[in-house]
This record gives sequence, C-alpha cells and structure tokens, in this order.
Amino acid sequence: MKGITVEPRKPQSARLEEIPEPDARSGSVLLEAIAVGVCGTDTEIVEGKYGWAPPGKTRLVLGHESLGRVVDPGPSSALQSGDLVVGIVRRPDPLPCPNCAVGEWDMCRNGQYTERGIKEIDGFMSERWRIEPEYAMKIDRSLGLLGVLLEPTTVVTKAWEQVVAVGHRAYWEPRRVLVTGAGPIGLLAALVGKQRGLEVHVLDLAESGPKPELVRALGAIYHTGSVSSVGFEPDVIIECTGVGQVIKDAITGIGSGGIVCLTGVGTGGSAGGSPTADVAAAAVLKNNVVVGSVNANKRHWYKAGQILAHADRGWLAHLITRREPPEAFARALKRQPDDIKVVIQFAVA
Ligand SMILES: [Zn+2]
Repeated sequence: MKGITVEPRKPQSARLEEIPEPDARSGSVLLEAIAVGVCGTDTEIVEGKYGWAPPGKTRLVLGHESLGRVVDPGPSSALQSGDLVVGIVRRPDPLPCPNCAVGEWDMCRNGQYTERGIKEIDGFMSERWRIEPEYAMKIDRSLGLLGVLLEPTTVVTKAWEQVVAVGHRAYWEPRRVLVTGAGPIGLLAALVGKQRGLEVHVLDLAESGPKPELVRALGAIYHTGSVSSVGFEPDVIIECTGVGQVIKDAITGIGSGGIVCLTGVGTGGSAGGSPTADVAAAAVLKNNVVVGSVNANKRHWYKAGQILAHADRGWLAHLITRREPPEAFARALKRQPDDIKVVIQFAVA
C-alpha cells in the first residue's frame, strides 16, 4: 500500500512510497483511510524540526488528524464494517505517570507518552491503518468527510473544559469571549463559544478571504487589529496564534476575573517592555488566570464528537478549504493565503 513517510529530524525527507500493510499488532480494527488533515505540526516534522520514528525504525508514517472507514472491525470491537472512525492520537506513557494512570494522557507528567504520526507510532497517512478498539472514535456517519475535523475539535474541547474548570473557582457568569486567530483551532473555539451561548468575538489579521464571513456566519463578531482595539474587556480569551505580541496583549487586556487560555505554540517575541512584576500585579489585582492547554483525552474526544454532530454541516464544510490527493502531499503542506484546513484525501467519504 501507499503511505506518506518521513525521516524525523531530516528536512525534506518526506515521500509517498510503498510500505507494508499495517501490522496486526497495531490494532484489531482495520480501516481504509478517507482523509487526513494537515497542520503546523506536520509541517514542522517535514521540515526536520520535530518528530520521532517508531523504535527500531528510521521512518515514520505521517499524519494525526485521521478519518477512516472500517474494513474489518475485528473480534473485540462494537464497530461495524463501513463505520466512520477517527483515531485517538496519544497513548499513555508506559510507566505510567499518575495522570496517564487515570486516563488523563493529555496531562502526562513525564513526557513519555507516544503519539500517532508524531512520536514513535506510525500515523494515519497510509491507504490502510489499524487501531486498538479503545482508541477508535466512531463518528456520526452524516458528518462524512467533516469527521476529519474531530482531532482539532478535541483540542478546543479540552481548552474550553480548562476554562470552565478555572471559572468555577468563584461565582462565574462569563458573557463575552475573544478568540485570537481565525485558523481552524480559533474558528472551532468560536464554534464552541457559540454553542455555550456566549457572545463570541474573533480577532485575526485577515481583512478578506473566507475568515471574516465564516465568523459572521457563526453569529460571532469579527475584528482586525489588536486585542486592545476590540473595545471591551473579555471575560475569556482563547489564544490561538502563539504570537508573542498577541499573547502579551491578551494577558494585559483580559477583564477582571478573566481567564486567558493559551493554545498556540510559537517561539520568540518579547513582553514588549512591560516589567514582569507590573504584568503580575495587574493579574493579581484582577484575579486573572493564564492557563495553557494541549492535546485531549478520551472524554474530550467524545465531547468533540457531540460538538461536531450539533454543528451546521455547511459551516463546517467551509473550514476545509483545500483537498489534495496523496501524491500532492507537498502541496498540501505548503500554506496558501486563504487556507483554513487542508486535507489529504485518500478515498471518497
Ligand atoms: Zn504520563
């Protein structure tokens, strides 16, 4: 079968090549790939900046935002042939740490977790793949290709759960949320905000293209410019850019009692000349919390499935702005100006 593989830490080593059928030891459920979404992590791996091959191997099958169709449910799953399934990405560390021991592998404490398509386990960019039944998330069949959005939705599902957990440290009545960045994570974070009944504002640099319209179609308010120019102090900020200046503006611009949830992973930037103790003093006097959030555990995968199932299919469809065949994976990984979510499509949903 064909698969897209890469030698981690070796730039530009990715290729579409003939690889063996998936090893039966990788799971009792056999699926045919429908589509795999690409994100910044895939680009980083292909550029040689991140990623680990499985033990004893030099190459890793890429891809962690999966969508597959069950070919053989195997002897021990409740799945049926034809079911649409998305594979959970992370596996608990083998020790395990206390959090992995209770199923919170997203909160892994020792970093020894593994991840499909990223860290020591082959990913989903192959014509067929296998998965363990307990890591196979069946999705609403009416979602079709849109099921490929489940993995990024799990990320925002966890982020929102963190915000709510922090919020309930006190009497909490959030009204207005600001999402910084209108990429797939930001737009899905905005979707969750709307589903929670909040007034949602989204800030991005783009002045044209699909982003402003997608935000308006959600019933949210679109802004360009800086966090300080939105004209209000948000109760919640979901930060999805990873850009230093935006992060700084979010932390200083949040309202009293407000929560900033950081989901973007970037590098560089400076605090823009604000002395650390001044930033801290503002946070103290406003009872602010800044919380980082990454990955997702099985509860978030389940809840994300419900979020997608309740979302407008037409709106979700506009998030997938480009579909490329496997042989054009390099083009899929190269960002174009109006891209939101790009997927590599292996088969019709
Ligand atoms: Zn762990």
